[in-house]
Amino acid sequence: MKEMTKKAGGMMQENTTKKANEAGILGDPDMESSAQHTVLIAGAGVGGLTLANDLALRGIPFRVIDPLPEPVRDSRAHGFGARTLLALDKLGLVEAMLAAAKQPPPVLREYFGGTLVGELDLGAVPRDPYPTILAIFQQRVVRVLEAALIERGHRIEWSTRLLSFEMDEKGVVATVDRGGSIETIKAGWIVGADGSMSVVRKTLGLDDPDAAKLSGEASRSLLRGLLCECDADWKLSRDIWWLWQERDGFAGAEYNDFTNKWHLQVIDLEGTEATLERMEVLLRKRSGIRTVHLSNPAWVHQATFSQHAARRFLAERGTLLGDAAHTFSSVAGQGLHFAIEDALNLGWKLALTIAGAASPCSCKPMKRSAASASKTP
Ligand SMILES: Cc1cc2nc3c(=O)[nH]c(=O)nc-3n(C[C@H](O)[C@H](O)[C@H](O)COP(=O)(O)OP(=O)(O)OC[C@H]3O[C@@H](n4cnc5c(N)ncnc54)[C@H](O)[C@@H]3O)c2cc1C
Repeated sequence: MKEMTKKAGGMMQENTTKKANEAGILGDPDMESSAQHTVLIAGAGVGGLTLANDLALRGIPFRVIDPLPEPVRDSRAHGFGARTLLALDKLGLVEAMLAAAKQPPPVLREYFGGTLVGELDLGAVPRDPYPTILAIFQQRVVRVLEAALIERGHRIEWSTRLLSFEMDEKGVVATVDRGGSIETIKAGWIVGADGSMSVVRKTLGLDDPDAAKLSGEASRSLLRGLLCECDADWKLSRDIWWLWQERDGFAGAEYNDFTNKWHLQVIDLEGTEATLERMEVLLRKRSGIRTVHLSNPAWVHQATFSQHAARRFLAERGTLLGDAAHTFSSVAGQGLHFAIEDALNLGWKLALTIAGAASPCSCKPMKRSAASASKTP
């Protein structure tokens, strides 16, 4: 490791080597060899857990770390389409996802200017072979993925944050914070499934130079809004997904049966504050329900619908997937789907490379642009 030529991350090589030696990894040929065949997955979100399940099925050794103490409890995506289920079928997880989804499936009800313009009973749409839309909040998706992993004999290293890493042609030495204790993990490959603020992407120097521009005025002029989860004192059915459209924006409301709160979205082109009061004003205006009172917010976010795509998704022994590789407007509801597709696309390539059937060099890094971010790596 002393000949380590490539430095990635701000950590000094000497420190890493010292810590690796303290951990007793370096110098033991058996440990060296097994580490070289191990994939370190940073991030146990949707993408990281999908990749972990894929590698588990292929018998590829991996470790998966995440700073959270347990699967994410914050709300994000609230459903996905048939294409995502088709992807998850490869992991044998369709039935588990169907079982964890909202039952009975909700009815989508849409108003325009106060007039009911559409109603779609998701339970009545024939499966072909999967439901067109599955109503399932992201907290349930990650729990299904975690349960499958445990059933396959693996565990996630929660409360463990990737701080930095170094790599050379043989492998990666990562420094992690495990509940306050600094440790090293040695692996052959590192996968950045660590979300939009990815440490792996930054460390590999793959940040999108145009990210600030794309996340700034350009996206603001298109869409800007508020998201929140809170209690609402209206008597609306929790079995309906509500959508109120106007010419200058919309509001949506779905009841989250994981957090037992209303999940609300409104377009707010002028607003600068992410407050429950602002959300209440806009929701009353869009829905026409003038008396609704919101309370007990779990969170209120200002959504600027930022977008970025890493310059490349692969740099030597480090690679990216999901939000670490690309983000785009959540209005399209594609972030969760692409995290899953990215992971499945990466799994077989890593497996071939680790088996020696493909060379890392033959997996030529693709140059990405924001416009091509919707394609998997
Ligand atoms: C409010 C909101 C609403 C959304 N709504 C939708 C929607 O309706 N439909 C849709 O498709 N998408 C939606 N998205 C986007 C979707 O949630 C993401 O695209 C998806 O979660 C990406 O999955 P991921 O696994 O790449 O990243 P994440 O789910 O963000 O997972 C990343 C994981 O990495 C961990 N991590 C972070 N730093 C480190 C580190 N240093 N070391 C190790 N681990 C680390 C995090 O704790 C996390 O568990 C929404 C997002 C938000 C924020």
